[in-house]
Amino acid sequence: MKLKDIYTQKDKPKISFEVFPPKEVEGNEILYSELEVLRKYNPSFISLTWGAGGKNNNSTDLITRIKKSGFEVMPHFTCVSSSKEFVKNHITTLNKIGIQNILALRGDIPADKSQICGDFQYASELVEFLKSNSDLSIGVAGYPEGHIEAESIEQDIKNLKHKVSCGADVIFTQLFYDNDLFYKYTDKIRAAEITVPVVPGIMPVLSKKQIDRMTTLARITVPNELKSALEKYDNNNDIQKFGVEFACRQCENLIKNEIKGIHFYTLNKSKSICKILDNFI
Ligand code: FAD
Repeated sequence: MKLKDIYTQKDKPKISFEVFPPKEVEGNEILYSELEVLRKYNPSFISLTWGAGGKNNNSTDLITRIKKSGFEVMPHFTCVSSSKEFVKNHITTLNKIGIQNILALRGDIPADKSQICGDFQYASELVEFLKSNSDLSIGVAGYPEGHIEAESIEQDIKNLKHKVSCGADVIFTQLFYDNDLFYKYTDKIRAAEITVPVVPGIMPVLSKKQIDRMTTLARITVPNELKSALEKYDNNNDIQKFGVEFACRQCENLIKNEIKGIHFYTLNKSKSICKILDNFI
């Protein structure tokens, strides 16, 4: 089913899971078994990340296998290092596999500038290109606290409005730990007359290292309650237990506020996600 139809259905919020291609091929089997565990929650789709660091990668086998196993797949695609010809070939490949959706991204600017192709400067240009060259339903990224390069949230939302007007059907947000920031963001989005669904991204806390990494890469506020817990617990088991409770509260509050779906950043691990979802099913 296409993204644009998934979120117009009026039953309970749609669940989706983001996974990444394992570095080693052996990791693929672990990923498939984690996905089998998550299948019982009936996700609307699995999203598969693309070439972090701006490098093109080839996850065709992974996309094909996940799709063949009966999941809908939303592959991500970053355009910063891609030529228009590469994108056209990629669209042909996705069509052959029967993929209906894509998450259109610019990607982070690579440190090695020679990797920048120049055919696409911003994700909006990729959205426009996909719209004219495919039937894919298109998702784009949104940042509740503003993208790290943006001079202000207002400017970021102006750019988001343009990106959506190029043909995006849904906005998936960066993870956040303060729901109020998400609500302020969606208010600003609606005030800017962007009408497509905004799907919140939730990542349960698994370790201190994970939080440190995320907060250096992106603008993500860590609320005091979470900060104190990270200081208080010195082992990952306790942190994960707290992470599940915290994410449950976030989800419960989001569901009360009638969001259309929740996109879980799974980090290829099902344990915490299952504990969260068992509270809602
Ligand atoms: P854009 O929408 O192009 O925005 C990038 C910056 O440019 C923003 O600051 C924006 O305000 C500004 N901008 C946009 N248009 C204009 C304009 N016309 N003029 C001036 N400024 C403009 N990265 C990966 O490498 N692989 C992944 O699989 C991946 N998946 C992601 C999934 C989600 C849900 C999210 C939220 C992010 C993901 N990322 C991924 C990270 C993403 O690639 C980076 O955040 C990247 O730096 C920006 O990508 P974008 O598509 O948001 O870019």
